[in-house]
Amino acid sequence: MTAEGASPAMAQWFAAKAENPDALLFFRMGDFFEMFFADAEAAAEALDIALSHRGEHQGRRIAMCGVPAHSHESYLARLIRRGFRVAICEQMETPEEAKRRRAPAVHRQVVRLVTPGTVTEETLLEAARPAWLLALAPQEDKLGAAWLDLSTGAFETEALALADLHALIARLEPAEVLAPASLGLAGAVETSPPRDGTRRVAEAYGLATLDGFGEYHPAEIAAAAMALDYVKATQKAGALAHLSRPVPRGTQGVLQMDAATRRSLEILRAERGGARDCLLGAVDRSMTAAGGRLLAARLACPLADPAPILARHDAVAALLAAPALRASLRGTLKGAPDMARALARLALDRFAPRDLAAIRDGLARAGLIAEALDHPGGLDAIPPLLRDAARALRPAPDPGPELASALAESLPARLDDAGIVAAGYDGQLDGLRRLRDDARGAIAALQLDLCQAWGVAALKIRHHQQFGYLAELPAAAGEKLLREAPAGAGGEFAPIHRQTMANGHRFTCAALAGLDRRLAEAADQAARREKLVTRHLRDLCLAAAAGITRAAEALAEVDIHAASAELASGGGWCRPELTERPDFAITGGRHPVVAAALARNRSGAFVPNDCDLSPGRRICLLTGPNMAGKSTFLRQNALFVVLAQAGLFVPAEAARLGLTDRLFSRVGAADDIAGGRSTFMVEMAETAAILNLAGPRSLVVLDEVGRGTATWDGLAIAWAVLEALHDRTRCRTIFATHFHELTALAGKLPELVPATMRVREWKGEVVFLHAVGPGTAEKSWGIHVARLAGVPRAVLHRAGQVLASLEARARGLDPLSDELPLFSRPAAGVATPPAPVPVEQHPALEALAALDPDSLSPREAQEMIYRLRSLM
Ligand code: ADP
Repeated sequence: MTAEGASPAMAQWFAAKAENPDALLFFRMGDFFEMFFADAEAAAEALDIALSHRGEHQGRRIAMCGVPAHSHESYLARLIRRGFRVAICEQMETPEEAKRRRAPAVHRQVVRLVTPGTVTEETLLEAARPAWLLALAPQEDKLGAAWLDLSTGAFETEALALADLHALIARLEPAEVLAPASLGLAGAVETSPPRDGTRRVAEAYGLATLDGFGEYHPAEIAAAAMALDYVKATQKAGALAHLSRPVPRGTQGVLQMDAATRRSLEILRAERGGARDCLLGAVDRSMTAAGGRLLAARLACPLADPAPILARHDAVAALLAAPALRASLRGTLKGAPDMARALARLALDRFAPRDLAAIRDGLARAGLIAEALDHPGGLDAIPPLLRDAARALRPAPDPGPELASALAESLPARLDDAGIVAAGYDGQLDGLRRLRDDARGAIAALQLDLCQAWGVAALKIRHHQQFGYLAELPAAAGEKLLREAPAGAGGEFAPIHRQTMANGHRFTCAALAGLDRRLAEAADQAARREKLVTRHLRDLCLAAAAGITRAAEALAEVDIHAASAELASGGGWCRPELTERPDFAITGGRHPVVAAALARNRSGAFVPNDCDLSPGRRICLLTGPNMAGKSTFLRQNALFVVLAQAGLFVPAEAARLGLTDRLFSRVGAADDIAGGRSTFMVEMAETAAILNLAGPRSLVVLDEVGRGTATWDGLAIAWAVLEALHDRTRCRTIFATHFHELTALAGKLPELVPATMRVREWKGEVVFLHAVGPGTAEKSWGIHVARLAGVPRAVLHRAGQVLASLEARARGLDPLSDELPLFSRPAAGVATPPAPVPVEQHPALEALAALDPDSLSPREAQEMIYRLRSLM
């Protein structure tokens, strides 16, 4: 479709659309944002609003829909969430200005492209989550990454190995990704890294060189330039001003976790269930949105250097020991506004009056908290982290007091409305408002005069959007006035008829029109003055932006330490002891999420469990039936590392933890349906990653390695993996398995300690005790668990018979026998399968024995099951 034959406004639409072909165009027309053609059809469907038509273009009706400009944000939020990008095309002048220029249409321009990674409005953001825009620039063997949050101004970079890309994405959970097509990332906005990255970044900060910023890998700078270019292109005006300098993060000092580990541990979100079913949800006691964001960031990126971790533990310990101080801090924090995001909106010139109030109120709370920390009753000494926070909570310059005297008590919602500035702050504004109010008073007085002069008691002066102030008369009185003017209705009171309505008439007169004009002028001048004062207040905040940002960060910091102390104050949490040696000794540990869920549902108490993987007993080989609590135990121990190294206390009686450098968790389904790899393939790839990357300071928790293939295959692989972890990798490991044969390794691998989930047999039923004890499971209890799951009785009975027969036959084959090639360590290559077990001459069993499970497709396997059933 071309613009040929379009009206002047529609020609503007075509031009703006051509510049933003991938975005829905919000085209401002008076009080509405309108969408046209295919945009209108898509938006009407997504928003469930009426689709209408307006005129024709090249013989076709123009589809159209619109949203009110004053409430467009909520529609925008829905469109962005549905995956649209929206270009905002604004009117840049009033119709009067256009008329004066003799322009055929008001000038319009795209002022902003709204994308998931560049939103700043409250309604479009998740309060407790950062909104990262991530840019990726591959360069030879490195990947430059830069991520920024326009809603707070945070900006960081990192140069990483290409292989760590997915771990980074899993850590940041970005709202939007920019990447070249060569990376093949689904959903990313295709963008190429610029050649002259350094120059672009320097330019963005108004610098000649980046030398003062620190050391970057060239790929980091390329990625930073990509992100900055994108912000410049989408935000148009001045958005860069608010961004911090790009801070190179480096992977040093950070606990390494890959994407599979994060998914398995459900740190920031759970695969199933609600917000509280993840680690963050279970431990977050923060009082502010910024505190929630900081805690999420810390749990997503625990540290690996002892000093900063200890400093955080000190802060939590101090606040745990001072309940009165903690309660007062938390009371002040409650409802403290989100200064970081308010400041970003001020900087982007996209603010509402409440954003100024947020800075005022936030700084006031910051002052109160600083005071409380300066005189911490009940504390001998204040820990350094809190002392630094107290200092940052008093920014200089501090625009707080000025904002407090300048802002009106109750603020209007929109910047265009009057009443933002308090009376008494600006003399000139007060004067203009007085003029305006005088004119209003004069109009009220005029109503009495006109009643007299026109002899109509029922006369009312009302304001009308389009015509200003008019005198309204009931129908009969109005007609009488039209027929014969009374004696008093001369001179400046002479009635001028303006409008006939169904039940009355509207008049004006020279006096009323004069007052109306005076009032409009005064109101107009007052509004302009108020805008000026508001801009001055905004500038005050921006001049103090660095200090406000630090104060906002300090508030969040105090919030999360007080929150962690609050969590620990409930009992059953302890300060982890960090050791140089690769220890790992937990007494009475609990899974924070499972324990909280049990408490919530009143479905029994969580059974605490010990775990010791310290040198000399580094590998725990865990057996036990399904549903006995193996995965819970594996995960809870991995979560201790995340919590402790993020700076929190841990849910245990005591915990001695050697600092962990890499954490691997392989618990739960390892499906990669989208990636097209089988469960077994994924499992092996993840196991390979562990064997290649883990070291003596790593912690590995593994569930059922080798379950995805035939029994002997799986056992052989699990066996070899355990040996490698024990002899070469030398990491701390919990290895859960159904292969009871593996416990034979206990005698061969000195640092391997078998443990089992204890169960009790009661009248032939299994009772799970959820307690970890020494030794090995005696039975698998698979059939009992199948019964709990509702498998039909007949099938259970038959399975019992088959099991008894298999067990009887298998007794002839002792898997622990030294004759098995499994024991000829070091095992070179794969173990050869043992001789087949002779099978009872039942036709079903014969058919079963003749099967080669690996060669069956799922469909063939299902057919086989039917055939076996028919043989029974
Ligand atoms: P497995 O991995 O052995 O199949 P799970 O770890 O999934 O078992 O645990 C099964 C269920 O048992 C969990 O949903 C949980 O409710 C309960 N459970 C697990 N560990 C404990 C425990 N220590 N105390 C109480 N209940 C537990």
